[in-house]
Amino acid sequence: MDARKGLSPVIVALDVENKEKALWLVKELSFGVDIFKVGPMLFMRYGPSLLDEIRNFGKKVFLDLKLHDIPNTVAKSVQAAVKMGVYMLTLHLSGGSEMLKMAVSAKGESSSPILLGVSVLTSLEEGDLKALGINSSVSDQVKRLVNLGVLYGIDGYVCSAHEVEVVRALAKDAVLVVPGVRPTGANSADQKRVATPQEALERGADFVVLGRPVYGASDPAKVVSELLDAIAKGRC
Ligand code: C5P
Repeated sequence: MDARKGLSPVIVALDVENKEKALWLVKELSFGVDIFKVGPMLFMRYGPSLLDEIRNFGKKVFLDLKLHDIPNTVAKSVQAAVKMGVYMLTLHLSGGSEMLKMAVSAKGESSSPILLGVSVLTSLEEGDLKALGINSSVSDQVKRLVNLGVLYGIDGYVCSAHEVEVVRALAKDAVLVVPGVRPTGANSADQKRVATPQEALERGADFVVLGRPVYGASDPAKVVSELLDAIAKGRC
């Protein structure tokens, strides 16, 4: 299945302080990016009107709210996302069976949002899981959570580049989205399990998400254009 449907494999996270900067980035990166990710920071400040403004540029919105709540609340939030025309929406697989089941049923027959299950955040390592009382390797925990998602019909998964093969083996037709990637030479900041975007895509990811390496650059368009070139070369 072509989960990308002709869309650019690069998603840009708009984790910036205000909507002027966010919309400037959308315009500036329009040539090579089709999906922009909006997180709680901007959504709490501007709400659905910002999503409309991004769509006015002909772009798709990935609303990264990482829902994790009681099943009824999550189901109603999914219904709201359907109404807002969101293209991708995240929820934590660790929210459990009933939450996942109700989220999928709230989406119903609608083709969007693509419901993406977050497995283990890329900022976490095995030691962090232990502190949460989870005595598994990151990879085993990812498998356990993805199996739950597959059981309840979640459309896709967010995982680190290191778990792409494992997740793909469990969810062959799923949409795989990999954040926490860094172009060669970039600073990894607080992301611990990092890889280059090319590595993530070669391992089987459909999309990679980049935030700071793009919006923090002095010339974001140059970063994206070099990245797309490198990806295209890797794929020839
Ligand atoms: O700035 P950076 O490239 O690290 O941004 C990564 C983006 O992906 C952030 O918006 C972050 O919230 C998101 N993300 C992540 N790890 C996950 C899921 C999403 O880093 N497992």
